[in-house]
Amino acid sequence: MAQKEIYDVVIIGGGPAGLAAGIYAKRAALDAVLVEKGVPGGQVCLTKGVENYPGFIDISGFDLSDKFYQHAKSYDLETIQDEVTAIEPGVEFHSVRLAGGEVLNAHSIIIAAGGTARKLNVPGEIENFGRGVSYCATCDGFFFRDKVVCVIGGGDTALEDALYLAKITKHVYLIHRRDEFRASRILQQRIASEPSVEIILNTVATSILSDENGVRAVALKNTLTGEERELPVDGAFIFVGFSPNSALVPAGVKMSASGYILTDDKCETSIPGIFCAGDLRQNFAKQIVIAASEGCIAALAAARYVETKKAGGKLAALQPK
Ligand code: NAP
Repeated sequence: MAQKEIYDVVIIGGGPAGLAAGIYAKRAALDAVLVEKGVPGGQVCLTKGVENYPGFIDISGFDLSDKFYQHAKSYDLETIQDEVTAIEPGVEFHSVRLAGGEVLNAHSIIIAAGGTARKLNVPGEIENFGRGVSYCATCDGFFFRDKVVCVIGGGDTALEDALYLAKITKHVYLIHRRDEFRASRILQQRIASEPSVEIILNTVATSILSDENGVRAVALKNTLTGEERELPVDGAFIFVGFSPNSALVPAGVKMSASGYILTDDKCETSIPGIFCAGDLRQNFAKQIVIAASEGCIAALAAARYVETKKAGGKLAALQPK
């Protein structure tokens, strides 16, 4: 239940960007509310170990998320667990519509809705989700103790999670479509020295094969030779990137061709008073520390915007910048 008729800022998303925005918004004495449809923490909760957030040599994604959340709550940040169904830009104020029927009005909005795991889109993938197909090693790795799994992908997530799975499973096949990984050098070095990870390059998975017990194999195709084969596995972990959660972005907000929100250096979108921070923003890299820093920038800029608006009267008419 909304505590204000018009908030200073509604923050959409409870990942590192949204929670950092919440901390900075409260410190700037804004009437702020954060809306999150699931548990606070976002994608980070799915990460087994975070080793590159300054101040923490090694911390689980869940613990780091919890620290962000507790920090935001220490400033009495109001949080609502609900799904945002629409963002409606206005002239006097903007509105955020929730699935539960409530409408939150605000002078400013920070969209920090992040993204979700991209699908491989091969036969057998969706049908076997939860029956051997997974997008989260931390959540599901336990079910594959002493079993054989494959990891598909060549980015940071695929290599990090292959290393994690190597510790609990019997054997990990790491399948990548090219001959070099996109992941950071340090992860590549670790993978190369992990005896229970077997790397299969220049290869794509063309389908996930199953029987009554769930996944039994992946069908593979070598991209250089065209050779096809079946690789027996008990589970298939798919980490082929990330899709921005852009469905909610209102008309009038400029987007990149690949579906990320374009902003200026204050994280403000092409609609005044609507800001974006974190993985949904068009930026150079997707990192927890970057999401958190963008949350800070967006909140400081929103505070300045709200202050100016309250001092100067009405919100300027919606003009593309
Ligand atoms: P990503 O960096 O976009 O990598 C996706 C991988 O999947 C790429 O290797 C890509 O191959 C492959 N791929 C994409 N579509 C495919 C398909 N249809 N079939 C087979 N392979 C496919 O995604 P991510 O690893 O999830 O990382 C997302 C972002 O989060 C990145 O910016 C990453 O740096 C960041 N991240 C950081 C950390 C960390 O710093 N600890 C941890 C996790 C993620 P190609 O290389 O051939 O395109």
